[in-house]
Amino acid sequence: MTLQSDATATLTEPQIGIEFYQLLADKVLDGGSVTREEALAILEAPDAHVPAILAAGFQIRNRYFGRTVQLNFLMSAKSGLCPEDCHYCSQSKVSEAPVPKYNILKREELMKAAEQASAQGAKTYCLVISARGPNEREMAAVEQIVPEIKAKYDLDICACLGLLNQEQAERLKACGVDRVNHNLNTSETHYAEVCTTHTYADRIQTLKHVRAAGMEMCSGGIIGMDERPEDVVSMAMDLRELGVHSIPLNFLESIEGTPFQGKATLTPNKCLKALAMFRFVIPDRELRISGGREVHLRTLQPMGLYVANSMFVGDYLTTKGQPPEADRQMIEDLGFEVTTKVE
Ligand code: SF4
Repeated sequence: MTLQSDATATLTEPQIGIEFYQLLADKVLDGGSVTREEALAILEAPDAHVPAILAAGFQIRNRYFGRTVQLNFLMSAKSGLCPEDCHYCSQSKVSEAPVPKYNILKREELMKAAEQASAQGAKTYCLVISARGPNEREMAAVEQIVPEIKAKYDLDICACLGLLNQEQAERLKACGVDRVNHNLNTSETHYAEVCTTHTYADRIQTLKHVRAAGMEMCSGGIIGMDERPEDVVSMAMDLRELGVHSIPLNFLESIEGTPFQGKATLTPNKCLKALAMFRFVIPDRELRISGGREVHLRTLQPMGLYVANSMFVGDYLTTKGQPPEADRQMIEDLGFEVTTKVE
């Protein structure tokens, strides 16, 4: 394959050598953009190329983020009871997984979690509810708690409340929400295989409302849902075009009782190639190793941080993460450092 400087790139050779990744990193560091074909070549690279891919990707990471790692803390403020049918999700109406079911938590519990987030060195407190979109009671609860948290703790707030209209996005901005998470999850083409109760276009529209309201967009996806490598590349290209600020990349945990139970297509090297591809395509944005890190990257978890610069600390929404002390040790062993600085 030869490097191309524009989107009309085509593969000219069936095989690529490991020097390709360094040339690609040089192109990105010189301000060039990775094409679809080049992104695909990373995902389809042999596992033996992973060290070269990470070494090249690290240079991009190092340019924009040095050796810093941002930590995010997830708070499941409302769990279960969701009318949507996202097939990966244990909280959906079609899931039989035994997850806790509760309505939006009281102020005291949300504040206690903020204290925990702050104590664990998190930069961002992610307030998540299971819902198609927030109802009035949930909006009011968020509007009440966000100013309180921000007055007391040095935390950014990311709200993940489902689909939003423009008015709701503006209310979130007005109460101090910094960022909204709404994942694209997969490509437009593959979306109907993952969810039937809302569309990819609905998700894009919510992100546009968030952007128009002046908040940061946090949006990423899930790898391992029987998508093709082309789907992962498409999602990355759409996220680049939207101008998202933060990209959480999840690795499917096929939870028993969900329609996606039993799917097991991931390997640690496949996860690393996906993380690296996002770093090459969207070089200067926060890239977060998200759900499924412990299960799918396993002993290669630290290597993910050579390209990603962010991760969750603590538990995920309905699955356990490794203890915060183990995460801190991993970061220290890499010679990296936790940052709470706004990039
Ligand atoms: S909208 Fe969110 S909580 Fe509801 S099923 Fe989909 S992912 Fe799960």
